[in-house]
Amino acid sequence: MKYKVLVLVDGPRDVFMSLNDVADVVFGPFKSRGELLEAVRDVDALVAGVTPIDRELLENAPKLKVVARFGVGYDSVDVEECTKRRIYVTYTPNALSDAVADLTMGLIICLARRILQADRYVRNEWAKPGSPKFPLGRDLSGKVLGIIGLGRIGSAVARRAKAFNMKIIYYDILRKENLEKSLGAIYVDFDSLLGTSDFISVHVPLTEATRGLIGERELKKMKSSSYLVNTSRGAVVDEEAVCRALEEGWIAGAALDVFVKEPLPLDSPLIRLENVILTPHIGSAAEETRRRMAEMDVINVRSVLKGEPPPNPVPEQEGLVFRR
Ligand code: NAD
Repeated sequence: MKYKVLVLVDGPRDVFMSLNDVADVVFGPFKSRGELLEAVRDVDALVAGVTPIDRELLENAPKLKVVARFGVGYDSVDVEECTKRRIYVTYTPNALSDAVADLTMGLIICLARRILQADRYVRNEWAKPGSPKFPLGRDLSGKVLGIIGLGRIGSAVARRAKAFNMKIIYYDILRKENLEKSLGAIYVDFDSLLGTSDFISVHVPLTEATRGLIGERELKKMKSSSYLVNTSRGAVVDEEAVCRALEEGWIAGAALDVFVKEPLPLDSPLIRLENVILTPHIGSAAEETRRRMAEMDVINVRSVLKGEPPPNPVPEQEGLVFRR
């Protein structure tokens, strides 16, 4: 009897279809939560994006053996509940670090050199008689980049920033002395990072400890000439406070790839602000990266369906073996 794999993400179908020799592979999305709950009833493996994999869904999926996250942030999956039910949760560490770091660096450069405003200026103003001069940007060389969360993505950002001759400081709950040498990164406490950085880039996972990590207090500690970049998770930053910070000039600008509610509602106050760059959660959105992520998911699902522990369990399930 063949297994059933449900793919809930918009990834490379040919890669997921390679599981066809052991499983029927079916694809979402579904029109409603009700349809999804119905669809998981006979499913052995799920490839999941940001759809919440919560207790209600798990209760409806008695045959489920593995949730393979198509990505590295797994705040959308109730890992504790999965573990209780002996369901593996896997993710795709490293596969997307370079892609997210590339986007982050791109956003930093766009902020410093006002590239988005420059594009609008050429389209709408440059050739007009008497149009104002395009305002100067800032150099990256010699500026301080403060990285919050020097993990896989944070250190990939640091490697890039080093090539731009930026000074790198970081804050993390775990001090990474081995990386300090190779990256030339200096460990500082959270408030010092806020107060001395010219650019702050956030790379922590969304957990109860990091929800709202950057709020009014933190934004007010930042230099008024500094920029905030968030490519981690929307809820790590208090969006309302960021709006006020941008409107009232507590900081010079921001670039956000992730939001509390996605898609970002068109009536969000962020949308009418000029000093923020908004991208639609595209950290890993590069063809090669998405293929690598899908290939990792396939390897993880295949292992579990063979009765073996998967090679990339989330850290909470490291070393666990579920027998059925
Ligand atoms: P990682 O686990 O390698 O790094 C996270 C770092 O944050 C670790 O060094 C950890 O010690 C640190 N950290 C954890 N809690 C902290 C806290 N309370 N205070 C300070 N530091 C803390 O993860 P990663 O692979 O670098 O990914 C980071 C996050 O990026 C993911 O969890 C995900 O939410 C996000 N992400 C976003 C996109 C996107 O499309 N924008 C893509 C991939 C990942």
